[in-house]
Amino acid sequence: MKSIAEILGKESLEREDLIRVLEADEGECGPLFERAAAVKRSGVGGRVYLRGLIEYSNICSKNCLYCGIRSGNAAAVRYEMTEEETIAAARHAFERRFGSIVIQAGERDDAPFVARMERILRGIRALGGGALHVTLSLGEQTPDTYRRWFEAGAHRYLLRIEASSPDLYRKLHPDDARHRHASRLEALGALRDAGYQVGTGVMIGAPMQTAADLADDLLFFRDLDVDMIGMGPYIEHPDTPLYAHARRLPPAQKRLELSLRMVALLRVMMPDINIAATTAMQAIDPGGRERAILAGANVVMPNLTPARYRHDYLLYENKPGLDQAPEESVELLEARIRESGGSIAYGEWGDSGRFLARKSGGPPA
Ligand code: SAH
Ligand code: SF4
Repeated sequence: MKSIAEILGKESLEREDLIRVLEADEGECGPLFERAAAVKRSGVGGRVYLRGLIEYSNICSKNCLYCGIRSGNAAAVRYEMTEEETIAAARHAFERRFGSIVIQAGERDDAPFVARMERILRGIRALGGGALHVTLSLGEQTPDTYRRWFEAGAHRYLLRIEASSPDLYRKLHPDDARHRHASRLEALGALRDAGYQVGTGVMIGAPMQTAADLADDLLFFRDLDVDMIGMGPYIEHPDTPLYAHARRLPPAQKRLELSLRMVALLRVMMPDINIAATTAMQAIDPGGRERAILAGANVVMPNLTPARYRHDYLLYENKPGLDQAPEESVELLEARIRESGGSIAYGEWGDSGRFLARKSGGPPA
């Protein structure tokens, strides 16, 4: 069997290489993290970009089997922020020199919602004359909606494929017309066509997922030539159908460890994309995001959702920072990032290097 160092010496990582690394003993993985740190230094440098996260609404028309705010969960208390509250949260990000924000919510495609979001985007653009960049994470929409929101000021979009394997996707979602793997793929294409920087991702350690599935996910990201990735550990939620698998899952720490390996492998494979250190990593380990930054991530998303809504945006159990002011979480983060030789890039958009290179016709990394 090849050593991890030998595998990393190859020009291009193949499916079996990725599986071997994902299944390796923890003690073998030192060379992976060293290599990822070196590739990160030359690919994106030591600066970490901030995205202020606004959890705009937990009203969702979908029923994904893993998610705590699925429409079928009658126990969830539903909310939608007002336009004024959303713009005020964006202003807060602007004043704190965050450079950019993410607006995330359950999926809805009704006309009043689409129009409201368009007005919010125009309101945010008016702050500081477009100084704040906006990423949306609002699920599958028509190409026309994607275009309208782009024209109103959104420039990046996160739509996780959740599972690149259609078979696994089917096991994680209801088998109906609203939850189709093919539609998700089409939506990713429509986002690219509309001009967005496109991000996708998967949950790691989800029920029924294998190391081969995760290897295929990494190859999928590379083949799609994505600009950004947000991926993190699956965490069970008691009011969801997939909770029935909870007892058979590997412990949460193992899922976090696997997530860090996924980040490191992806950094080696795609040196100049943006990779997020996600909240679910922090839910398992208070230092999970910092560990992800050391493993290759270069984006963090401090939560800017008003405190009174934060308790209701529960995708999974033990969500961190429910009572923490964003200031506190950023200060702590900044100190830790500095300890590891990095710095926070205040006031910068932090566009994906991959996206900029593609746009200017530069060579692929
Ligand atoms: N409704 C939009 C955005 C909000 S959900 C969408 O689905 O695209 C954002 C992400 O949360 C999802 O893509 C999913 O990967 C993640 N998520 C949902 N439930 C989760 C869970 N139980 N554990 C970890 N991540 C979860
Ligand atoms: Fe809705 Fe997104 Fe949760 Fe699916 S993952 S139920 S689309 S919020």
